[in-house]
Amino acid sequence: MAALTNANLTNAKRIVVKIGSALLVDRKTGKLRSGWLHSLANDVAWLKSQGKDVILVSSGSIALGREVLQLPRSVLPLEQSQAAAAVGQIRLARAYEEALAPHTITTAQVLVTLEDSADRRRYLNSRATLETLISLGAVPIVNENDTIATDEIRYGDNDRLAAQVAVTVGADVLVLLSDVDGFYSANPVLTPRR
Ligand code: GLU
Repeated sequence: MAALTNANLTNAKRIVVKIGSALLVDRKTGKLRSGWLHSLANDVAWLKSQGKDVILVSSGSIALGREVLQLPRSVLPLEQSQAAAAVGQIRLARAYEEALAPHTITTAQVLVTLEDSADRRRYLNSRATLETLISLGAVPIVNENDTIATDEIRYGDNDRLAAQVAVTVGADVLVLLSDVDGFYSANPVLTPRR
């Protein structure tokens, strides 16, 4: 068993797991890392078999769509990243569905914007929908609705989104899976260690 069987999870009933793009999408080829996704699916199935509720917050739509649309690796203008997200999100959702279906786990795509948590009525509605999905045994796969979120009103960062989702569903544990080894005071890729 890999990353998700840590002792800290033993007593948790409801777990939110955030998956960063770098784990899911190969930086060089822009393709899905299906071996990694399958091992994640094994871990999710194991947690579910222990009676836990699992909610996934997954990045990767822009990284996957960028490759399909043959857009450059550099920072994209907003309209291109939104187009990439539209193309990539459908592939991302399908990949999760295909990885979890062999474990007889039903997946559900939930796309949200920052406004959905700021507006009380929308917040309550998204909470009720997530709760219903969980009670029906489905695994919600949450991402920001990048295609319609505008620059000024967006999470922009799925760590923030995952924190909001964890609060919304009353999670016991939030796990942030990333390729960054530990905590840093600045981006370790851009800022050399002192
Ligand atoms: N929502 C973005 C995506 O799916 C990722 C945002 C993030 O990685 O923090 O590509």
